[in-house]
Amino acid sequence: MGERFTVDVVVVGGGLAGLAMTTRLTAAGFSTVCVEAGPRPSAETAERDKRTTAVLMPGVETLRKAGAWDAIAADAQPMMGLRILDCGGKTPDIREDVLFEAAELGDGPFGWNVENGKGRLALADRIDALDKAELICQAKITHFMTRRDAIFVTLSNGASLRAKLLIAADGRNSFIRETANIGHRDWEFGQKIIACRVSHSQAHDGISTEMHHVGGPLTFAPLPGNSSGVVWMNPDAEADRLIDLDDDAFREELQDHSQNVLGQIETVQDRAVWTSAICVAKGLTAPRIALIAEAAHAFPPIGAQGFNTSLRDVETLAGLAEQADDPGSADILKRYARQRMPDILARTVGVDLLNRSVLSSVGFVRDIRRAGLGVLGRTAPAKQFAMRIGMGG
Ligand SMILES: Cc1cc2nc3c(=O)[nH]c(=O)nc-3n(C[C@H](O)[C@H](O)[C@H](O)COP(=O)(O)OP(=O)(O)OC[C@H]3O[C@@H](n4cnc5c(N)ncnc54)[C@H](O)[C@@H]3O)c2cc1C
Repeated sequence: MGERFTVDVVVVGGGLAGLAMTTRLTAAGFSTVCVEAGPRPSAETAERDKRTTAVLMPGVETLRKAGAWDAIAADAQPMMGLRILDCGGKTPDIREDVLFEAAELGDGPFGWNVENGKGRLALADRIDALDKAELICQAKITHFMTRRDAIFVTLSNGASLRAKLLIAADGRNSFIRETANIGHRDWEFGQKIIACRVSHSQAHDGISTEMHHVGGPLTFAPLPGNSSGVVWMNPDAEADRLIDLDDDAFREELQDHSQNVLGQIETVQDRAVWTSAICVAKGLTAPRIALIAEAAHAFPPIGAQGFNTSLRDVETLAGLAEQADDPGSADILKRYARQRMPDILARTVGVDLLNRSVLSSVGFVRDIRRAGLGVLGRTAPAKQFAMRIGMGG
C-alpha cells in the first residue's frame, strides 16, 4: 500500500489544459494535484511538441488569474491581426483577402501565439512554485471510486488520493470519461494535419494568415522573429504524399501554396502529423467528476478554437468552485455543465461546418463561402461581430 493524500482537487492530464486548470484552481485557494502519464515538461519535451496555440485575450485573462501568464508571455508572439485568404479556385491563386485587425476592437492584440512545449514548461514551473499545488508525472490513474462526499483515486505508482473533485483533462481518448460511462461522439474528415515550424524572408507583423485551399486550410501562426508555426490540413492521400517528401521538396510545395505571403520560405523544421477529427462528450459531468478540454471536446485546428474553448471550461469551473466550499458538489457540477455545454456544441457545429466548407471540392460551395468572406470583410458591424464570436464573446 502506498501513501494516501487528501486534497481538494485531482486533475488528470498535464497537457496545456490540465496544467492551466491546476494553476487556476490553486489561485482560487484549492489544494490541487495534477497527475500526468508522461515525463515532466522540460526543455527537451518542449522541443518535441511542435504545436503552437493561439491564446486569445479571454484565455490570457484566465492564465493571468492563474499567475502563469507572465512566464508564458516571455516566449510568446502577440497577434495583431488575422488574415483570411480564399484560394479555393481551380488554381491556388488568392481570390479573396480579408484582414481582421485587433485595432478594430480596441487597443492591444487579439491574443498571443504560444509554443505548446514552452507553455507547458512555464505552467509546470509555476506549479512547482506553489505550496498548494503538485505535479506528479509518469503516473496514471488506475482506479477511482466515488462516495457521497469524496472521490478516491489510485495511481499506478501505488499512491492514493482522496479529493472532493476529479477533473478529467486526459485528452481526446479520456480514460476517466470512458470509465465514468460518459458517452461521446466522434467523426473524422478523411483529412490529416501537418504541423511544422518555418522561417521566412518577410516579417509577419504579428498577423496570423489562414489560407483556405481546396482540401483544407494552410495557416501560418506568427512566432517571435521571422518565423511561424504552420498547420496544413489536406485530404489523407495528399497529406501522405506531402509527409513522404524530403525537406526540400516539402519546402517547395509550401512555397507554392503560400503564394509568397511571407516571401521565401527559408527553412522547414520538424514536420509532425495528426488525424483531423471531432470528438464531443455527451455530458460533462458524473458524480464528483468534471470533464474539461479535449476530454470533453476536440476539434481540428481551424479558427483557433481548441485550447481557447478549453480555457473557458477552466475559467467557468474555477469561477463556480471559488464561490463554494465544496468544488465537487452536485450543484457546482450541474451549473458547470449548464453553462459550458451550449458553447461547446455551438463551437463544434461551427468548426465542423467551416472545415467541411473549406474541404469541399464542390465549386458552388466554395464560391458561396468566398462571397460570404468578401461580404464580411466589407461590412464593418458584421466583421466586428464575427471577431467577437471568434474571441469567445
Ligand atoms: C496541430 C495542432 C494545432 C493546434 N492549434 C491550436 C490553436 O492555434 N489554438 C487553439 O486554441 N488550439 C489549437 N490546437 C488544440 C490544442 O493544441 C489543444 O487543445 C491543447 O494542446 C490542449 O490539449 P489538452 O491539454 O486538452 O490535451 P492533451 O494535450 O492531449 O493532454 C492530455 C494529457 O493527458 C495525459 N494523459 C492521458 N491519459 C492519462 C492518464 N490516464 N493518466 C494521466 N495522464 C494522462 C497525456 O499524457 C497528455 O499529456 C491545436 C491542435 C493541433 C493538433
